[in-house]
Amino acid sequence: MCGIVGYIGNKKAYPILIKGLSRLEYRGYDSAGIALLQANDIVNVFKKEGKVIDLTEFIGNANTEGTVGIGHTRWATHGEPNNVNAHPHTSGDGTLTLVHNGIIENYDVLKKELIKRGHTFKSETDTEVLVHLIEEIKKNSGVSLVEAIRIALNEVHGAYAIVVISAEEPNKIIAAKKSSPLVIGMGEDEYYLASDATPIIEYTKNVVYLEDEQIAIIDRNNGLRIISISNTEVSPYVQELEMQLEELEKGGFEHFMLKEIYEQPRAIHDSFRGRLNAKEGWVSLGGIKAYEDKIAKANRIIIIACGTSWHAGLVAEYYFEDLARIPVEVEYASEFRYRNPIIHKDDVVIAISQSGETADTLAALEMAKAQGAILLGIVNVVGSTISRVTDAGSYTHAGPEIGVASTKAFTTQLTVLAMMALAIGKKRGTITDEKFQLLLDEMEALPAKIEQLLKNADYIETVSAKYKDAQNALYLGRGSSFPIALEGALKLKEISYIHAEGYPAAEMKHGPIALIDENMPVFVIATHGDNYEKLVSNIQEVKARKGKIIAIVTEGDTNVKELADYVIEIPDAHEFVVPILATIPLQLISYYIAVMRGCNVDQPRNLAKSVTVE
Ligand code: GLU
Repeated sequence: MCGIVGYIGNKKAYPILIKGLSRLEYRGYDSAGIALLQANDIVNVFKKEGKVIDLTEFIGNANTEGTVGIGHTRWATHGEPNNVNAHPHTSGDGTLTLVHNGIIENYDVLKKELIKRGHTFKSETDTEVLVHLIEEIKKNSGVSLVEAIRIALNEVHGAYAIVVISAEEPNKIIAAKKSSPLVIGMGEDEYYLASDATPIIEYTKNVVYLEDEQIAIIDRNNGLRIISISNTEVSPYVQELEMQLEELEKGGFEHFMLKEIYEQPRAIHDSFRGRLNAKEGWVSLGGIKAYEDKIAKANRIIIIACGTSWHAGLVAEYYFEDLARIPVEVEYASEFRYRNPIIHKDDVVIAISQSGETADTLAALEMAKAQGAILLGIVNVVGSTISRVTDAGSYTHAGPEIGVASTKAFTTQLTVLAMMALAIGKKRGTITDEKFQLLLDEMEALPAKIEQLLKNADYIETVSAKYKDAQNALYLGRGSSFPIALEGALKLKEISYIHAEGYPAAEMKHGPIALIDENMPVFVIATHGDNYEKLVSNIQEVKARKGKIIAIVTEGDTNVKELADYVIEIPDAHEFVVPILATIPLQLISYYIAVMRGCNVDQPRNLAKSVTVE
C-alpha cells in the first residue's frame, strides 16, 4: 500500500507534494514524509508519525523551498509506524533519498550483507535496505545512479514502486515499479509522479502508466526516458485521463463514505449506461463482447477477489449458476494463489478489485494465465494493472472511491456481475425471455429505488443510535443475501471496530446461536422471496433467546414487523436485485454507528484502500 508522490519542474514542490499525499492518504496513513531538493543541492527530509496533517504541522515554518521533491504516506509492513520508519529513507552518505511502496522480500539477506560491508541502518524497514543497496552498487562499481538503480532492482525480490532523488544530480528524478502502481503526469516542462492519478489530475491530463520492471528517468532538461530493468529502451505511451477533479472532492458531505453511499444511484446508472436497455430488451458489455462465445462455453467460472470484492463474487455465484447454469467457484485470491489449484484452459477466471491493483488478486491472475485460462477483470480504476493484464473485462464506472470502506464500488461490482450473468445466460439460452426481460426491468429500476431508500436515512440513523455501544453484532441472510450479511458485518467491523459476524441464517444454530442474549443485535435480511418463510423461523429462534432483531424487510411487510425490534423497509424488488438494495441500509448503519463512536470513518485504523502488498 502506501501512497507515493514526486515532482520536478519550475514550481515550488512542497504544496504539490502535500496536496498529492492528502489525495493518496486512503492508501496508508500511519506516517508521512517528504524530501525536498534545495537550491544548494541539499536534501531536506521531514518525516512524522501520523497523518499528512501531522506532517504539515510538524514542518510548520521550516524551509520548504525546492522545485524537486518526493513524498510518502505509509501503511507499515516492516517496522512499526513511527518517525524513524517513516519514508523517505536516505543512503548512508545522505546523497540518495527514496520513497517506496511495496515489500522487498529478500531485505533481510541484503541487509546482513550490507552490514558486513559497513552499512548501518536507522530504521527497521525493508525500504532502507534498498536505498543502501543502490548506494553500495553505485560506489562499488562506479556506475551512474540510473545504472545502480537498475542493477539493484535486479537483485531485489518482491514489489516496489520507488521514486529516488539525489543531491548529486539535482535535475533528475528516477522512478521504477514492479507490482505496485506508478503514474507519471506529463506537464509543460514539469513532471508529476504518483501512485494513482488523483494527485496529478488538476495539473495535467496526460499520463504515462509505468509498466512492471520499467525505470523512468526524468531529467529537467531532457524530459522523460523509460528503460526496462534489463536495459532496453521503451517508448513512453501517453494516455489521457478521464477523471474529473470534482469527483475527488467531498461535495458538502461530512465524509467521503457518506458521499459515496449517496452516489450509488448515479454510480449504478453509470454502470448501466450503454450496456443495458430494458425498453429495447438487451444487455451488452462491450468489454467482454469478443469473449462472450468463449465465456458461454466455459466449463467453470472461478472468481478471485479479496475483502468486499470477494463478497461481490459470492453473490455472483448465485447470478451465474442461476441464469447461465455455469458452475462457479469463489476464491480468496490469497488462498487460491498458494494452494496449487486445478485450472483448465476452458475455465474463465474473473478477478474483482476496486483498485485493480490488489496484490493477491494480481498474483492469482498470473497463475491462472500461466495455465491458459481466460481472464476477465471487473475493476473500478481505469487503466489499473488488472484491467491491463486480463484478456477482457468491464469497468464498474463507480467513479473514484476515496472512503476506505467500499460502498459504491461494491454495488457497482454487483451491477456489472448481474449484467454479465444476464448476457451469458441469454447467450446460452438458459434464461427464458420473460425472466430476462423482468430482470432487465428490475435492474433499470434500481437507481430510483435506491434514491427512495436513501430518503429513509434519518430513520436508519435513529435505529443505529440504539446499537452504537454494542460489543458484538450478528448479520444473517439466506441465498444471495447471505453474502450481504457478510458484507454488512465487515462494514461494521472495519469502520466502527465492533466485532461482527455474518452467517447464513440457517447456520446460526450450528454455533453462533450460543452468543445470542439480550445484548446482541442481530441484523437480518428478511425480504420477500423464496427463503422468506425460513427466515421468519430463524428470526423466531433469535427472538426466543432475547436477541435484538433489526430486520431489512420489503416495504409493507407485516410478519417480520411483529417480531423485530426495528424494521428497515426497502422498496419491493425481485430477489435478483435485493443484494444491491439491502446493502444500502447496512452501509448506512455502519456509517452512523462509526460516526457516533467517534471513529475515523474514511480512514479506519490499520486499513488501507488499495492493498498492493500481499
Ligand atoms: N515496506 C515498506 C514499509 O513498511 C512500504 C510499505 C508499503 O508500501 O505498504 O515501510
